[in-house]
Amino acid sequence: MTITPPLMELRNVSRDFLIKAGLFGQKKILRAVRSVSIDIEKGDVLALVGESGCGKTTLARMLMNVLEPTSGDILYQGKPNKDRSAADRSRKLQAVFQDPYSSLNPRKTIGSIVSLPLWIHGDLASAAIRSETLKIMDKVGLPARVYDNYPNQLSGGQRQRVAIARALILKPEIIICDEPTSALDVSVQSQILNLLIDMKHEFNLTYVLISHNLGVVEHLANKVAVMYLGRIVEMAACEELFSSPRHPYTKALLASIMAPDPDLDIPDVDLGVAFPNAMNPPVGCAFHPRCNQKMPICTIEQPSKVLQQERTLECHLFGNGR
Ligand code: SF4
Repeated sequence: MTITPPLMELRNVSRDFLIKAGLFGQKKILRAVRSVSIDIEKGDVLALVGESGCGKTTLARMLMNVLEPTSGDILYQGKPNKDRSAADRSRKLQAVFQDPYSSLNPRKTIGSIVSLPLWIHGDLASAAIRSETLKIMDKVGLPARVYDNYPNQLSGGQRQRVAIARALILKPEIIICDEPTSALDVSVQSQILNLLIDMKHEFNLTYVLISHNLGVVEHLANKVAVMYLGRIVEMAACEELFSSPRHPYTKALLASIMAPDPDLDIPDVDLGVAFPNAMNPPVGCAFHPRCNQKMPICTIEQPSKVLQQERTLECHLFGNGR
């Protein structure tokens, strides 16, 4: 029996940065992502959540091959991602970013922005490129009349539709959605979310979603990885994680959205102690200074990963068969 490998697989992926502290300061290592292992299956919507500085953007940049892991492997359909050609990678994986205005060239027309990937890949004649561009614009709800417009002539929601059309035009398999709605007015956020859902079904897509907004995550994701100081501390099916969070940090994150005016954001998880300095992380479990369930071992030893009913956890509360 042949076992199909996951669409994308991260195996013990870590990424360090060498940071100089001050003008003449010593160089220090920032461990932005540490020993992350995830399987991304076809059709998944994997959400990466956590406070700013938790490593989710670095992780996404490694998936996009913009950054190389310091150690560990990223596999695409069982083969090393780094061995694939740049053209193949961009065919299979595209991204939609937070701010559609800054991610679109203001001097290019909508038609040329959306069609650019087709020109780069050079498989089609110009008439076919125009026709494909108009087709994908129609799919994402952009009228043909904006083909010759510039980004500043469009609303924020329309600009995000342009970014989505550009990401879709090569018919990729995976789209990294980096805070896809957070720069938009609340009134258009749900339209863009629904568009992402529709496009997922229409094109059989897989998403990696980075979001501060747990409402967006709950709406879109089927799998959630909660990150804290570069590590995945809990990963589970979305419904399971929201209905019964187990890791103390996940509980704190979810509690932060129960506030009277939550807006379902994670601006600052109120744990009485600030998010630690990533250059100087606490010894043992990095969450221990903020954890209300910490035990003596937590200040000494990094918890190892345990698997409990399809859920992974890194916490001493769940080790040794507990
Ligand atoms: Fe809290 Fe200890 Fe678990 Fe860390 S390992 S989350 S400090 S209980």
